Amino acid sequence: MDPVAFGRRVFVLGATAATLAASAPRPVAAPVRDPFTLGVASGDPTPDGVVLWTRLAPDPLAPDGLGGMPDRTVPVGWEIAEDERFGRVVQRGVVDAVPDSAHTVHVEAVGLAPGRAYFYRFRAAGALSPAGRTRTAPAPGALTAVTTCVASCANYPVGWFTAYRRLAEDEPDLVLHLGDYQYEYPTPERSVRPVAGPETTGLAGYRQRYAQYRTDPDLQAAHAVAPWLVVWDDHEVVDNWAGQATERGYPERRIAAFQAYYEHMPLRRTSVPHGLDLQLYRRIEWGALATFHLMDTRQYRSDQACGDGMRVDCAARFDPSRSLPGAAQEQWLLAGFRSTRVRWDVLGQQVFFAERARASDEAYAMDTWDGYVASRDRITAGFADVRNALVLTGDVHSHWANELVRDGRVVGTELVSSSITSGADGDAATDHPDLRRNPHLRFRSNRRGYVRARYAADRVTADFRVVDAVTTPGAPVRTAASFVIPDRQPGLNRV
Ligand code: FE
Ligand code: CA
Repeated sequence: MDPVAFGRRVFVLGATAATLAASAPRPVAAPVRDPFTLGVASGDPTPDGVVLWTRLAPDPLAPDGLGGMPDRTVPVGWEIAEDERFGRVVQRGVVDAVPDSAHTVHVEAVGLAPGRAYFYRFRAAGALSPAGRTRTAPAPGALTAVTTCVASCANYPVGWFTAYRRLAEDEPDLVLHLGDYQYEYPTPERSVRPVAGPETTGLAGYRQRYAQYRTDPDLQAAHAVAPWLVVWDDHEVVDNWAGQATERGYPERRIAAFQAYYEHMPLRRTSVPHGLDLQLYRRIEWGALATFHLMDTRQYRSDQACGDGMRVDCAARFDPSRSLPGAAQEQWLLAGFRSTRVRWDVLGQQVFFAERARASDEAYAMDTWDGYVASRDRITAGFADVRNALVLTGDVHSHWANELVRDGRVVGTELVSSSITSGADGDAATDHPDLRRNPHLRFRSNRRGYVRARYAADRVTADFRVVDAVTTPGAPVRTAASFVIPDRQPGLNRV
C-alpha cells in the first residue's frame, strides 16, 4: 500500500532554499514520504492532562514492523492549542521517537485547564501530522454531563470500519475501547480486504498489524475525535488466552504482543510492559459524575478449570477460589467502590457479566463471568457501596442490554457493545433464545455498531447504534434501541 495514496502531502527533506535557488541543475534530495500515515491519538485524560500519541511510519506495512524508519532517533515536535486552527497554542515541546519503540511517541501533557477541549498535532522530518481533538477531565467536583461511545472487536479483513466513522461523526467527548482492537489471524477466506503478513506471533508481526489497522481512515477519525480509554481482550495476543497460559508460543509471544500493544495505545508510562506483565487496570475520574474502572479481564484469571470447553457446565464455576480479574484486581475494584463518591461507577471490561443460561444445552460459557460465579458475586455485592453501578462489555459481537440481579433485586445495569466488524454483517434478528431463558437480558441486536451513552447527574441514556452492513462501505448508522437508567434506579427503561 502506497502512503501517497492516502491523499496527503508529500514532503521533501533537504530541499532548502539554497538548494532550490542553485542555478545549475543538480539532483534534488530524494523525496521523503509522509511519516504520519498512522494518524494521531490521545487517551487517559486527567483534569490537567492527557496522553498524546503518534508513530512515524512512512512505510506502514514494512514486514520488519519498523514502518520504513531509519535505525536512529528522530525528534518529534508536538503542540497543543485551544482552537482547531492552532492560533492559540498553549503548550509545545519535542520528544524523541526511538527505534526500540518503533518510533512511537507518547507525550503525557500536564498543566492544562480542566473540562475543556484541546487540539494537538505533531511535526517531524519537515512534515505536519493531522490534528486531533482531545479533552481534559472535569475538575474534581464537577457534574458536567459527558457523551461516550463504547467500541469493541474490530477485525480489519472481515469488514469496513464504517462503525468507527459513524462513532467519530457522533463527536463523543470520550471513547472506551473494550478490546479485540486487532485480531492476530492471517487474512480469512471471506474478507473484504487483506491483512499483511501471516498470523502475528512476534514483535515485527504485531507492529505491522497495528500499523495496518491505523492506516484505516475511519479508525483514524475515531481516534482523532476524542481521547480513548483502552483495555484489551484476547486477540491482542491470541484467541482466548488467559492467565498463565503456556501454549501457542508463550512466553515470547505474550511479551511481544504486550510491547506492541503499549507502543500503539495512548497509555501512560505506568503501562510500560515489563516482560510478561503490563499494568492495564486503572481508574479514570470524571469529576463528581463518573469513575471509569478499567479492568484487565485476561492477565490474572484463575486457570480454566473446565478446559477450553466454551459451553461446558461445570461445578468448578462456583469455586470461591476462582477469580476472573484475579484476587489483587478484585480487591482494588472493591476498595474503589468503598471510597467512591461519584454518581456513576462504570466498569470498562470485556466479557459478558450477567448470568446467561444457554437455551441450547443449559450450559454456561466458561470464558465469561459465568465461569467465575463467586468472583462475580463478590463484585455485585460491592455494588451496595456505590450510588449507581454500570458494567460495559464487549466480546460477544452483538449488542445486549442487561439488568444485573442479586438476591432477586436489580442492583446494576450492563451495556454490551456489538463489534465494529467481527461477525461481518450479522442479521436483522433481535430475538434470541437466551432472552427467553434469562428475563434480565432485555435487548439484543446482531448488527455491528457501538453504544453511545450520555452520562448526566440524573440519568444515563444509552443508544445502541447499528450499521446494517460492513462488507460494503459507507452504511448509514441508526439507533436500534435506547434505554434510560435513572439515578439510583438500576435497570433499563426503554424509550
Ligand atoms: Fe472479538
Ligand atoms: Ca474476545
